[in-house]
Amino acid sequence: MNKYEIALIPGDGIGKEVVPAAVKVLEAAAEIDGGFSWSFTEFPWSCEYYLKHGVMMPEDGLETLKNFQHIFLGAVGMPSLVPDHVSLWGLLIKIRRSFEQAVNIRPAKLLRGLESPLRDPKPFDLIVVRENSEGEYSEIGGSIHKGMDEVVIQNNVFTRKGTERAIRYGFELAKSRRKHVTSATKSNGIVYSMPFWDRVFNEVKTDYPDIETTSTHIDALAAYFVMKPHLFDVIVSSNLFGDILTDLGGAIMGSIGIAPAANINVEGKYPSMFEPVHGSAPDIAGKGIANPIGQIWTGKMLLDHLGHQEVGNLILEAIEDTLEAGIKTPDLKGNATTEEVTSAIIANMKKRV
Ligand code: ATP
Ligand code: MG
Repeated sequence: MNKYEIALIPGDGIGKEVVPAAVKVLEAAAEIDGGFSWSFTEFPWSCEYYLKHGVMMPEDGLETLKNFQHIFLGAVGMPSLVPDHVSLWGLLIKIRRSFEQAVNIRPAKLLRGLESPLRDPKPFDLIVVRENSEGEYSEIGGSIHKGMDEVVIQNNVFTRKGTERAIRYGFELAKSRRKHVTSATKSNGIVYSMPFWDRVFNEVKTDYPDIETTSTHIDALAAYFVMKPHLFDVIVSSNLFGDILTDLGGAIMGSIGIAPAANINVEGKYPSMFEPVHGSAPDIAGKGIANPIGQIWTGKMLLDHLGHQEVGNLILEAIEDTLEAGIKTPDLKGNATTEEVTSAIIANMKKRV
């Protein structure tokens, strides 16, 4: 029987509430599946840790994390006491970069029982695969002159390796889905990087003759996300385009508290990190009313990644059953607690087996 070694970093604020909730659901999933088990090891690395020790994580923190298969993280951030750049660079970005988590995946789906801000949407179920390490977010550039003559240049960096890695990941994902990949491009306006992106996309797609493809300019694609998100299955995108599209994806689902995400080390050489889209939400921390669905759905992504799609899908069905029954936290206009939503999801999983 497989035993998965997972590092837990609950972090700050509501991270400390939603991670234990999601762990309960993951434990229930293992029990129902019967074919694997978990070994969770918790680390207190966070802004609270920083206030005591002057660092977000110990010097050998990365070495420690390397011993685990994957990382399950809540949220870090305590903006009132620790500047965001300290918490971000001292932990999140450090882990993402050191472990070459070069692909960021974020699904968006119209859940049963949840109201989308879209008027009368058809059911949609899409996943954005975003290049997570290069592209438009490079540190190359600079400025010359001052005053009215000032000129600022920001270079985009698209490597063959990074571009192909993200695009190929999207095609692999599409194989087990509805077999359609959309490329987010802008080669009509960006004359070097995007034609290169298109060229790599067209090369990679020849390896996947069973998968249908479309190439759409990012401006039109953003509009389609609002008007017809049901058209999409997997979307592959550069770093900036994916950043914008995934916020839009979260928005059309209905709440930031439910949006899941994963930072993937594609080669499997280092751990991947599963963390929901939302932050530490200091405004509601400690009240027991944080929505645990984003973290629980992120747990489903961990299960999918480990090859346990069946029980992963069971979690999502149980989430939808719970929402449909009106058991919702205040961010979804309900009055249930984190605990009540979590227990209902576990009960609904058990009901379905
Ligand atoms: P960070 O800098 O860590 O991303 P942030 O303040 O920018 O933090 P969030 O922490 O995600 O962003 O909070 C944004 C808003 O969404 C807050 O009002 C917060 O209460 C709400 N929110 C975020 N996550 C949840 C959740 N899981 N349940 C309920 N409300 C949430
Ligand atoms: Mg923020």
